[in-house]
Amino acid sequence: MRPAILNSLFAETATLKGVGSALVRQITRLKLTRVVDLLFHLPIMAIERVQVDHIDESLVGRPIIAVLTIVRHDSGGPRRPLRVRAVDSGGQWVDLVFFGQSGAWARSKLPIQETRRISGKLDRYGQTLQISHPEISLPGEAMGPMLREPVYPLTEGVTNKRMGQIVGMALEKAPELPEWIEPSVLERHGWIGWRGALTAAHELNGEGKAKDRLAYDELLANQLALLLVRRDTRERRGRPLAGDGRLTEPMVASLPWALTGAQRRVLGEITGDMAQASPMLRLLQGDVGSGKTLVALVSMLAAVEAGAQAALLAPTEILARQHFATISKLVAGLPVRVAILTGRDKGKVRADLLDDLAMGRIDILIGTHAIFQEAVEYHDLGLVVVDEQHRFGVAQRLMLANKAKAPPHLLAMTATPIPRSLQLTAYGEMDGSQIDELPPGRQPIETRVMAVERLDEVVEGLGRHLAAGGQAYWVCPLVEGSETGDEAAAKLRAAMLKARFGGGVGMVHGRMKPAEKDAVMSAFSAGELGLLVATTVIEVGVDVPNATLMVIEAAERFGLAQLHQLRGRVGRGEGRSVCLLLRGGELSETARARLKLMRETNDGFRIAEEDLRLRGAGEILGVRQSGEAAFRLADPERTAKFVGVARDDARLLLDRDGGLAGPRGQAARTLLYLFERDAGVALLRSG
Ligand code: ADP
Ligand code: MG
Repeated sequence: MRPAILNSLFAETATLKGVGSALVRQITRLKLTRVVDLLFHLPIMAIERVQVDHIDESLVGRPIIAVLTIVRHDSGGPRRPLRVRAVDSGGQWVDLVFFGQSGAWARSKLPIQETRRISGKLDRYGQTLQISHPEISLPGEAMGPMLREPVYPLTEGVTNKRMGQIVGMALEKAPELPEWIEPSVLERHGWIGWRGALTAAHELNGEGKAKDRLAYDELLANQLALLLVRRDTRERRGRPLAGDGRLTEPMVASLPWALTGAQRRVLGEITGDMAQASPMLRLLQGDVGSGKTLVALVSMLAAVEAGAQAALLAPTEILARQHFATISKLVAGLPVRVAILTGRDKGKVRADLLDDLAMGRIDILIGTHAIFQEAVEYHDLGLVVVDEQHRFGVAQRLMLANKAKAPPHLLAMTATPIPRSLQLTAYGEMDGSQIDELPPGRQPIETRVMAVERLDEVVEGLGRHLAAGGQAYWVCPLVEGSETGDEAAAKLRAAMLKARFGGGVGMVHGRMKPAEKDAVMSAFSAGELGLLVATTVIEVGVDVPNATLMVIEAAERFGLAQLHQLRGRVGRGEGRSVCLLLRGGELSETARARLKLMRETNDGFRIAEEDLRLRGAGEILGVRQSGEAAFRLADPERTAKFVGVARDDARLLLDRDGGLAGPRGQAARTLLYLFERDAGVALLRSG
């Protein structure tokens, strides 16, 4: 249960005084539905105003506050604004200018001869000093404009002033919370308590340190949750799986090439883990094309040799089908039963398959999310492999683990190179392995950036490539926030290319029926289609070594890591591969620099670091796809700076300082609930 001390923070924003349904609707657009969301809605900067007695030229351009006496109204006209002349105590004139206000309004708000406190930016209009749309208050009034006003991220219909007010009310609801940070860490950084830090961050007063502390809190919650998951998994008794080589050896021997040194090394790490009773939790990183599928297959065969079942989870239908085809071919002739299950399988076929699975008549099951839905029962699931892990979240990883009597071994694979700080925050519960070597004979992909005006030339070149028997991808532009838009762009481009090249052109996009997608993909793999026009559905995993040319339209709209993934669809065979990045005419400096980086390097790690710097963690980890909450307070810089300390702090707390039972442990529980680290919280509940 959530500690009672947090209840006021998890109340709906509607419970705040004066916050009506219209305002709630507006701020919901900023996801500010509860008091705690308002607390974490930090200002981005401050407006600094100067309080002056005398106004003069030197203040032009600055926000000021001054007490002025109103002397004249000039009520304007249809084209002219309302002007109210005012004067300071030294006799300097200032005009207060209003568009769209009536004389009557001015007479009531700014009566002649009276004094008002006026605040706004001082401008010059010809010879006259003026302030447009100033804030007006009575000289003695407490709620006047502030000298230092925090500026909040806003949404339509909500003024900064209003936002400041409701955040202020939320702050009043915030209790002092018990301290969860290790005292020495607190002291080393000179941090103050939680509530104080929150107030300072909102008042922009020593906010650098205050924000550090709040970011640290979030990182600590994240690390605690991951360590709890890890500890819980490792403590449960799994099942040692040691293969005898009767399947893996003939399979590897039948390959036309040898395993790379890196593949052999990571297989050693994996099978070593699997031979232990405590369940494996391992993240395998390897750049696109490094041969992860084979590592997955050898691991799964080892599990089967030891008498267990294995499951391979793929993020897309296309990828699941492709894995099924590849793996079925590789184990042909061996006594291994491989099956595929996706959302598309229904009725009797599905029922039979589930029956076979439950009876142990299937050894390896490949599929999408469907393979861990409720109705799916395994006879004896011993190993779960998750391909392209960045598409899934912690919660989904946990779900799979619940599919077996004893917790299965888990191998997560990703082609996205993950900078160290991110690896800790996103996969902190796992051990890591890396395939740091590509299969021999691979040539680096040659990447060129071309202006879209040269489209004709590109199409000519594509024609020559296809005529010589080559295959190619054409990736269509990303249409911001709209899958339908992506689809429309792809259809348009496919129509143009079909008109030019005829029947050898196929198309896939995300909204096609799965069966149609498959048909197109298998025709392309089989070489029946020369050109595949596609949206980003081909981003992950698709493997057609004969395709050695890729065109990416409007490349500047894609993330760098995403471009690297897309580009990784070529350069998979021994032939020379080319990737053409078409760019729009008007490019910002950064966009130019990003495309230049793509041209200069094939190093996924460098690209990912750059992407992290430019676009934040969410893009790299694909949290949008996995639906996992990104950090709200810990920006990438603060993450890099503090995650290591948070990791150590969390570990110390759990291993040495009495776990979550001691007094600081109680505080740490509150922290987990405050940041809604559900994975960790769920374990607290059950344990
Ligand atoms: P990824 O790591 O991107 O998932 P894949 O597993 O799809 O890469 O492998 C890429 C290609 O490299 C495949 O065509 C695969 O058959 C091939 N491959 C894998 N291992 C080797 C190896 N040791 N030597 C040569 N080719 C290999
Ligand atoms: Mg792959």
